[in-house]
Amino acid sequence: MPGKSTITVHADRGVHPSRAVAPPIFQTAAFAAEDGEAFARAAVAPRGKDFYTRYGNPNHAQVAAVVAELENTEAAMVTASGMAALTTAVLALVSAGDHVIGQRSTYGGTASVLLNLLPRLGVTTTVVDQTDTDAFAAALTPRTRLVLVESPSNPLLQITDVRAVAGLARAHDVPTMADNTFATPLNQRPADLGVDLVWHSATKYLNGHSDVSAGVLAGPADLLDRVWDVGLLTGATLGPVDAWLLLRGLRTLPLRVERHNANGLALARALSEHPAVARVHYPGLATHPQHKLAAEQMSGFGGVLGIEFGGGFEVADAFLGRLRYARRSASLGGVESLAVHPASMWRGMLSEEQIAASVPLGLVRLAAGTEDPADLVADVLAAADASL
Ligand code: PLP
Repeated sequence: MPGKSTITVHADRGVHPSRAVAPPIFQTAAFAAEDGEAFARAAVAPRGKDFYTRYGNPNHAQVAAVVAELENTEAAMVTASGMAALTTAVLALVSAGDHVIGQRSTYGGTASVLLNLLPRLGVTTTVVDQTDTDAFAAALTPRTRLVLVESPSNPLLQITDVRAVAGLARAHDVPTMADNTFATPLNQRPADLGVDLVWHSATKYLNGHSDVSAGVLAGPADLLDRVWDVGLLTGATLGPVDAWLLLRGLRTLPLRVERHNANGLALARALSEHPAVARVHYPGLATHPQHKLAAEQMSGFGGVLGIEFGGGFEVADAFLGRLRYARRSASLGGVESLAVHPASMWRGMLSEEQIAASVPLGLVRLAAGTEDPADLVADVLAAADASL
């Protein structure tokens, strides 16, 4: 198998061959068929690329080819956002009367799907402490049809024993879906650990430039075909230009992730020794309670860290306001550092009680960009000094 940087530059070459070195943008809503038979065939081809753009487009297929090879899965597909990837897959895999298991520490949108959307549709859910594999086992019922994991989790950077949980679910014929947004396939490959479907907010590291909203799913072709069938109905189609931009971002993913990993570790180390900081959540720190497990299933620890201030919201907010490089923003995974107060950001999706149960009020999520490490470290230390 070629190396990661070779994959991101070349894996899409055979998908829609052209003499153009940079792939063309197929800015079209539909494709013409040669005859009735070809039209009928294309209309039912799962994850096709030249029938109707809501069904698939060459720009989607090129991204999918790269992601599938990076994640070491048979196939992949793209959606209009990470949330579209999650909800389309969940709608494909569960029905009223079923049961879904998720994590207590998870991205706010995923939490809202578990706590609000699915129960409204007649699907029962249980959220568990992801650091306790037995809690997943205890939550399994004969009606369980899906297990959702996210490791490291947003924003507490808690680790799930992905291999153990996926194995447990598989023993009960229950598929597992893993949100691999924080780790990226460069640092962790959930399919190699037994996960059935891997998904990403491609808005983050995969695209990497904060200029596209997109999602991807990777897994076995037959499972993705079921998701694609529902995707035709939900219509969460990624525009061809955005798919093209995503492919362009993917080209440099391995280079960027290397720097994100280095910056994340440098910031976590510097802040963990600062007296203004109560706790740094970063799986690459030897002091992280699950560092050993993280090191077993990850080859790098990413660019996101959680910085907990004892003083609650006011201290966290003042720290955010003092940062020179990391701008206050809801996203992460781009070349520019971004920071946010998760308890404020998730008010649109979760109730105050749901937020209080999932995230400390004094937590800042800092996503290191690809700037020079010395500049980022000096900046956060100056902001932390002023918090004393
Ligand atoms: N998963 C994680 C870990 C996220 O951080 C986000 C967004 O912040 C999502 C999923 C949702 O992705 P999107 O915003 O692309 O819909």
